[in-house]
Amino acid sequence: MSVLHLGDLRIGPGDALVVVDVQRDFLPGGSLAVPRADEILAPLERAVARFSVERLPIFATRCWHPPDHCSFREQGGPWPVHCVRGTEGARFGMDLSAATVISKGSDRRRDAYSGFDHTDLAARLREAGAHHVFLGGLATEYCVFATASGALDHGFAVSLLVDGIRDIDEQAGARAVAELRTRGALVVEAGPHHLEHPVSP
Ligand SMILES: [Zn+2]
Repeated sequence: MSVLHLGDLRIGPGDALVVVDVQRDFLPGGSLAVPRADEILAPLERAVARFSVERLPIFATRCWHPPDHCSFREQGGPWPVHCVRGTEGARFGMDLSAATVISKGSDRRRDAYSGFDHTDLAARLREAGAHHVFLGGLATEYCVFATASGALDHGFAVSLLVDGIRDIDEQAGARAVAELRTRGALVVEAGPHHLEHPVSP
């Protein structure tokens, strides 16, 4: 499978970058660490640098939970306590100072996997003139999938930065990527070209 590479793509007005939940609690050492999540940092940093240089909009979503959020196990939810607003674990794990921050899951009574769920992300993207969203982050089969689905539902074209995502469960992650591709998402690499990739003739 030949994969498009962000470095080879012409990007410009209409394109936006959305970095999903790259927060310390989802990185190695965090309370809800996604395996090998640290490997996405360099590719995503390249993507952020590229969009910054091109002066294109960058958004960063974050889980921003109250301490008694319904998604936490002690409240009957599926997850360990993570990304409690204002804590170290909720901080971004990479430099996203160039990004507009979109907080989600702030209501104790409901969770939000999608960056579009009860936020103004769609309106902000439209205000920025975006119709094509490049998207990476954590975790593939949860918040990345939900946010990419939300983008498609809102009528945005989606390019998934495949080396800028990591899953909690490999099979579920692969299914999520396959479903997004079926729905029209493109798959793009953001990191440096790797020698092991076959060069097309
Ligand atoms: Zn959360």
